Amino acid sequence: MFTSGEETSIILHEIGHALNPNLKGIEGEFMADNYTSERGLTDEIISSLEKGKAIRPSEFATKSTEQRIERLKKI
Ligand SMILES: [Zn+2]
Repeated sequence: MFTSGEETSIILHEIGHALNPNLKGIEGEFMADNYTSERGLTDEIISSLEKGKAIRPSEFATKSTEQRIERLKKI
């Protein structure tokens, strides 16, 4: 299961999408991740993505997820 911090990071990521509906694909993911990271939950969004890979590999074991994790680790 997700920790409360991870759940918050996922909600912030989704708000990031809602505020930038024009951005699609990986650019939209990066912007939504920025929104989360700017609010101090970089570690939490990384761990939620790692858990996503384990729990729902068909959705999360993707090149996009790897690109997001690698980028978030540099923030
Ligand atoms: Zn997203």
